[in-house]
Amino acid sequence: MRLDKLLGNNGFGTRKDVKQLVRKGTVRVNGVTEKDPGAHVNPEKDSVDVLGEPVIHQEFIYIMMNKPPGVISATEDKWDQTVIDLLSENEQRFEPFPVGRLDKDTEGLLLITNDGKLTHELLSPKKDIPKTYFAKIDGVVTEEDTIAFSNGVTLEDGFHTKPGILNILVSGPISEIELTITEGKFHQVKRMFEAVDKQVVYLKRLSMGNLSLDESLPLGHYRELTEQELNDLD
Ligand code: URA
Repeated sequence: MRLDKLLGNNGFGTRKDVKQLVRKGTVRVNGVTEKDPGAHVNPEKDSVDVLGEPVIHQEFIYIMMNKPPGVISATEDKWDQTVIDLLSENEQRFEPFPVGRLDKDTEGLLLITNDGKLTHELLSPKKDIPKTYFAKIDGVVTEEDTIAFSNGVTLEDGFHTKPGILNILVSGPISEIELTITEGKFHQVKRMFEAVDKQVVYLKRLSMGNLSLDESLPLGHYRELTEQELNDLD
């Protein structure tokens, strides 16, 4: 990797800033001053310091966001703000992307990372990673729905879902539920309720695998995962 890229990736400023830093002779590679911004360094093996401060190389970033409604879970969009737009430049320089999608009006847990391998594992249909949602439903949700979901339901396009665990918190004209599913079909929770003639009016993801939403994060806020959360993910 080029020395200026390594410094840029690790928070030492723009490409232009870091080139100047290097040319000024403030950067050492393995204890020897290096004035060529294009010099090749191996981030795993070479030790690099700026004015004596070691450069700690971070390749991956893992962010938990409490996704707000009205924002698209994609890296870019022609019309709407995306979850990536909510990140600061410091996180954006890692070129992260959301792990899977939440609908524009869905809130809650969204993992954002640049780790393609982890993303692939979490989204692989073979892994059956459980995802739990809280939802408000227009209509009285009953034990019959719990039984129907436990057998899987047939969506309007004929797809039969895997079993889902439906936990009724409030049964009334607007019911409140928690639903755990292991698939991630387009609009899956909304379509599962449509299959039992009910409509989701509010949807929030609470967890994905072992990762739970940090409820102290206000909507639209985010933080990096802790070591523990990251270890628990795989
Ligand atoms: N199911 C949905 O219907 N929407 C989401 O955003 C996530 C799961």
